[in-house]
Amino acid sequence: MTTLAFAQTSALQTVRTVDDLRAQVAAWRQKGETVALVPTMGALHDGHLALVRRARELASRVVASVFVNPTQFAPHEDFDRYPRDEAGDAAKLVSAGCNLLYAPTVREMYPEGFATSMAVGGPAEGLCGTFRPQMFGGVALVVTKLFLQALPDVAVFGEKDYQQLMVIRRFTRDLDIPVRVEGLPTVREADGLALSSRNAYLSADERARAPELNRALVEAATALSAGVDAGAILEAAKARITAAGFGTIDYVELRDAETLEPVRRVERPARLLAAAWMGKARLIDNVPVAVGPVPAE
Ligand code: AMP
Repeated sequence: MTTLAFAQTSALQTVRTVDDLRAQVAAWRQKGETVALVPTMGALHDGHLALVRRARELASRVVASVFVNPTQFAPHEDFDRYPRDEAGDAAKLVSAGCNLLYAPTVREMYPEGFATSMAVGGPAEGLCGTFRPQMFGGVALVVTKLFLQALPDVAVFGEKDYQQLMVIRRFTRDLDIPVRVEGLPTVREADGLALSSRNAYLSADERARAPELNRALVEAATALSAGVDAGAILEAAKARITAAGFGTIDYVELRDAETLEPVRRVERPARLLAAAWMGKARLIDNVPVAVGPVPAE
């Protein structure tokens, strides 16, 4: 009983420099341990913790990183007001079985004179790549750095950010980075809203309306499974999202589940993805679209 209480409240080992991270990982490697990495921007919720628990199944040691990455935010975006709570994050990570928190400073990640960027194409094109043109280059840069810093066997990401997951899979393969990329289904509230650190921006009224985004996608995905033309179904989904009180809809689009190329009819596994503004929060969501039974001629 005492031991358990101690385990639950003991502080999580935290490192802030590349050298300290590498020293700890090297010590584990010497003992034959395997290592999983879970990159995050903090303000952790049960979606992040599901990644940590999955990481525990995939490797004997789990490193979580918390770093709000400035290179993936445009100047007008929410970098400054993005929620930050390192103490709370550390307590949650301990409870999920994380072994090490890597929380570098911006200076550690991007030292004086830093002059390198990454350009990503393929799955980075369109969708969020259009509305947040800075984002995927910044994500690719920081995830590549995290991979090279920690050199994990496996890294775990959420399907909540489906386009991001496909971009990460693509550049990891393209650059021959020897890290296995594992994706995990989106963790949702009971009413369907995808857990997100940005849900903290929602008022009570907006929070009550927000699950309509997911409901509209689920309804549309069911209709699209039959292999019909997507046009009218996507328009109906947008109308439902607008009726729920969302403001600007950045996109509601049907894409190939693997390549993320635009699709008009579902003939192989597809993905329906959306981004829309509810008050000050830009919410994203996506659902799988299975190939349904072929309609009778
Ligand atoms: P973030 O801190 O928002 O950058 O997310 C860090 C990781 O957690 C990314 O791989 C996200 O896809 C994942 N993630 C965020 N929200 C969820 C969720 N609701 N379910 C599953 N994974 C999530």
